[in-house]
This record gives sequence, structure tokens and C-alpha cells, in this order.
Amino acid sequence: MKKVVKFGGSSLASAEQFKKVGAIIKADESRVFVVPSAPGKRFSDDTKVTDMLLHVYQTAADGKDITAEIEAIKARYDEIIEGLGLDFSLDKDFEEITNALKTEPEKDYAASRGEFLNGKIMAAYLGIQFIDSAEVIFFNDEGKLNTYKTEKTLAAKLAECGKAVIPGFYGLGKNGRVKTFSRGGSDVTGSIVAQAAKVDVYENWTDVSGVLITDPRIVTNPEPIKFITYRELRELSYMGASVLHEDAIFPVRQCGIPINLRNTNAPADEGTWIVESTAQRPPHVITGIAGKKNFCTVFISKAMMNSEIGFCRKVLQAFEENEIPVEHVPSGIDTMTIVVHEDDFMCKEQKVLSAINRLAAPDSIEIEAGLALIAVVGRGMKSASGTAGKLFNALAKSGINVKMIDQGSSELNIIVGIRNDDFESAIKAVYAEFVAE
Ligand code: ADP
Ligand code: ASP
Ligand code: MG
Repeated sequence: MKKVVKFGGSSLASAEQFKKVGAIIKADESRVFVVPSAPGKRFSDDTKVTDMLLHVYQTAADGKDITAEIEAIKARYDEIIEGLGLDFSLDKDFEEITNALKTEPEKDYAASRGEFLNGKIMAAYLGIQFIDSAEVIFFNDEGKLNTYKTEKTLAAKLAECGKAVIPGFYGLGKNGRVKTFSRGGSDVTGSIVAQAAKVDVYENWTDVSGVLITDPRIVTNPEPIKFITYRELRELSYMGASVLHEDAIFPVRQCGIPINLRNTNAPADEGTWIVESTAQRPPHVITGIAGKKNFCTVFISKAMMNSEIGFCRKVLQAFEENEIPVEHVPSGIDTMTIVVHEDDFMCKEQKVLSAINRLAAPDSIEIEAGLALIAVVGRGMKSASGTAGKLFNALAKSGINVKMIDQGSSELNIIVGIRNDDFESAIKAVYAEFVAE
């Protein structure tokens, strides 16, 4: 039995947290590959080291003095090293990093140092080998993971060492420079390492006792989910459940390695098992609820739309020409709605409208911003009748107006569009209806 263990930023924010992590690793001999994040927040208004590094990069890029900021970052690491009583120093690394930032500041390089340095401390603390991720994880020309080269190199390297620390969040870009994943990307590294080493379990240790039915910042103490499928979690994380990076599922899913999401501060809790499929009956009709704010709807109508072959394609072409990803396309007989994210759409709004007019000549187009989407996800919905009715009833009882509905063809989710202002109350209402009945 072999496991990859990934620890998030809050699990490694201080020497005290490091000690909990050390105890977890030592408690189970099968925990052989360790993927650390950068130190996160020690208290609620603390700053994550990654954010400190992004800030120092900006200071360097503006040509200003970085000495004080570098010292503050170094103090975070020195506090951990001293707290652990290690005979180990990062002085040389800090010299190198400072020089690199002064001569040629690079954003990804700066951000990646959080994991790099924490990985070095972790390796010294555990007395095992450190592998620089820039030597084993590779990106291609388009900035996407080069899966073939990564798996081959990483698998060979891991086979050489019994145990190792592989820092999360970064690898090497095609241009020979360090490149990071998007924020929260250490989850992705953990998954890549698990796949390459063909381990039995990918343990992802964080600050909550598993994937919770909904966001604990909205509903107090939501129930943890015991079993969830990769597909369900993919829907939830895409729709805003930020507990696991949305891309972390793909590498392990390819070879059927389950993810066990657990709490560093409560290691006895079993956490959540994220699996390909399960015969475990979910305790509720729905497995989870997630959502995101700030979407925009483009409502298009045209008489006899349904009989005009190619109409939908022409409308979608207007979005494609402007490189705007389309989230949902609910439609009626003479109407269709395109749901897009405000960040993608707002700056190109008028260009898209003129392209729709040019390509599809509709009767009217109306745009509305400030829409939030909520996804209610569950493998149990397929076999339960009346789920949609229950959902709309819960929203109606709370006085929430549903502006859009989209039921996924897989019957795994129902997505509703509501006003941004109703977001939190809608999640609470749905949770109360389905879980806290
Ligand atoms: P880490 O630093 O360990 O990677 P993250 O902050 O990335 O941890 O993710 C854990 C956090 O995700 C939790 O503290 C919680 O606030 C948030 N979160 C949002 N939605 C959920 C959910 N459905 N289940 C669990 N946690 C969630
Ligand atoms: N340290 C990085 C971040 O803050 C990556 C991670 O924590 O997964 O986004
Ligand atoms: Mg995270």
C-alpha cells in the first residue's frame, strides 16, 4: 500500500501545524510521497506566503526596493524552522531568490518559491529526499500540462526513491522557466504525483473534515459527505466548491485512484472518499450544493427560431469569435439564453452584440448582469422524483425569484440562476430543504 499525501497552506502555516503534519505522516508507513503547499494563514487576517510573494514580485517589477518584503517572508520560514528545532537554513535560497527578483522579476517564479522553500523544510524535517518539481513536471507550448513527459520523468524519479517531498503548484514551462498552475494548484500536483507513482490512495489534507455538503462560510457546520463520485465533485468544484482545485480530479481519475480528503486538525475523522463509482447510498437525495456569482445572461428572441436551421450555431459563433466561454444555453421555442461570466463578457459586450446581429439577425437581444448560479448536484437525483419541485418550492418559500433553470442531461445536477443578492439565502434555503429537514 502506497499513498501520496498533500497538505494545504493552513496545514503548514506554522511550526505547530508542521508538527501535526509530521505526526500524520509518521503514523502510517504507506504515506511515502509528500506534496506540500506554501505556508497559508495562521489566523484569519494573516497573509498567505503566496500572496506575499506575488506582492514582492510586483514591487520588484516596479523597480522598487524589495528588502523589507523579502525579510518578512524569510521571517515566516525562519519561525517554522526554529519552532521545529531544525539545524537547517534557507539563507542561500533567499539570496538566490532576491537576486533573481532584482535582475529579472518573473511572476510565476516568485509565486512558486512558497512551495519550493516549504518543500525544503519538509524534506529536512522528515529526513527524506527533496525533488524540485521543475525537474519532473512539465508544461507544453500552450501552457497546459505535458502529461506524457511529466508522467514518464516523474514515474522514473519516484521509482528511484522510497520516500520524497515534491512541492506543489509549479513545474517547468516550455521556455525553460518556472511555471505555476492556477491558484490552489498544489491539489493538481498531488494528483499528478499519485498518478505517476500509481499509488493506492491520494490523501488531501486540509482544514475541514472532508467535502462538506455546502460552503461552511455560508451554512454553519454543514454535514461532511462520506462518499462522492469524481463526476459529482467535478460539478461542485467547477461551480465554486473551492475545497479542491477543479483540475485535481483528472490525473487520478484516469487510473481510478480514490482521493481521501481529510482534516489535519482532526486526523481521526474519516473525511470524504472521492471515487469513480460507489454503491453507497447517499444519505440525502442531493450530494452537494455550490454556486458562483457574477454571471450575465444574453436573452435572444426571434419569431420561428426553431425552424431556422443553424440559428443556434450562428449565435454561438458570435461568442466563439470573441473567445468567450459559454456556461449554459437554456432555450425555448422562439428564445435562447446564453449564460456567460461577467469577467469574460463585459469588456467585449458590444462586439458580441454586433456579431450576433450580423450573423443571426434576431428580433431582439436583452442583456442582464448580476446573476448568480447555484448547482444542486447528486447521483441520487436520477432515481428520486420531485427533486426539482422541492428545490423550487424551497426557493419560492424564501421569496427568491428563479431567473433561469438548466437541468444537466446527465440528471446529475440542476442549475438555477438567481440574483447575486439572493445567493447566500438561496444556498441556505436549499440546504434546509434537502439536508436539515
Ligand atoms: P488548503 O489550503 O488546505 O488547500 P483550501 O482553503 O484551498 O485549503 O480549501 C479548504 C476550504 O474550502 C475550507 O476551509 C472551506 O472554507 C472551503 N470550502 C468551500 N466549499 C467547501 C465545501 N463544499 N466543503 C468543504 N470546504 C469548502
Ligand atoms: N500556494 C498556492 C496558492 O495559494 C497553491 C496552493 O495553495 O495550492 O494558491
Ligand atoms: Mg486548496
